[in-house]
Order: sequence, then C-alpha cells, then structure tokens
Amino acid sequence: MGLVLLLREYDYNNAHIMRSKLQQHGVPVVLIDEETSVTLPHLKTLIGGIGLMVLEDDYEMARDILGLKYESPSKIVVCPHCNSTNSKPIQDELIMNLIARVFKIFTPDNQIQTNDKKYQCLDCGNTFLY
Ligand SMILES: [Zn+2]
Repeated sequence: MGLVLLLREYDYNNAHIMRSKLQQHGVPVVLIDEETSVTLPHLKTLIGGIGLMVLEDDYEMARDILGLKYESPSKIVVCPHCNSTNSKPIQDELIMNLIARVFKIFTPDNQIQTNDKKYQCLDCGNTFLY
C-alpha cells in the first residue's frame, strides 16, 4: 500500500484547506513540493504546484470527499473578456516575475498579488491576471 498522487494544486491555501478536509475524514495526507512552491513561486507552474499524496487505498474516498469528479475549480482560469476557459499561463515573463518576487521578499507586502499570474486567452488573445 503506497502513496499515490491525488492532485496538484497551485494555490497554497487551497492545498491546505483540502488537506484539512481530508484529515477531518480520517484520511492521512502528505504534501509534496510545498516548500518549492512557496519559496520559489515562479517554479510552481513547472512542477505543477503542491501535490497532495494519499494512501492508495484512500484514493477513491479522498476524491469523493473533495468532489473530484472533474478538475478542481481553482485550476479553471476564465478569461474576463470572453469567458473562455481556454487559456495558458504566459511563461516568457518568468525571469521578470522572479526578479519582482525576489525584491518583494524584502518588502512587508510580499503576500500581496503573489498568486496573481498572467494568462493569455487562446480564443480572443486577451492577456489578464488571474
Ligand atoms: Zn478571451
């Protein structure tokens, strides 16, 4: 009986809410890549965010508890211009984001906007923060 990947979550708070929910139902959860996602947020998209691992035998129950018949709503990015869900994160600003975040570490408001990421809508071409 090993650990299996239940899901990956980009949002730190959501990952912890889901872990708490599972633990309340007696399902043990191990978070992976949490520190990388928090300390190196620009790498989040590369590693897929924080991983929630559960025991193989708990997998189906865990999915039921979280209602994971379909993809987690927090992963669905909606274009504010045309309401399309067909968008992709913009990667070419990775280095600028890294520089911005490094400097944000030294400012007291480093919590602000760290979850905002730039996306490009593949239907209308609109770029937006989400
Ligand atoms: Zn759009």
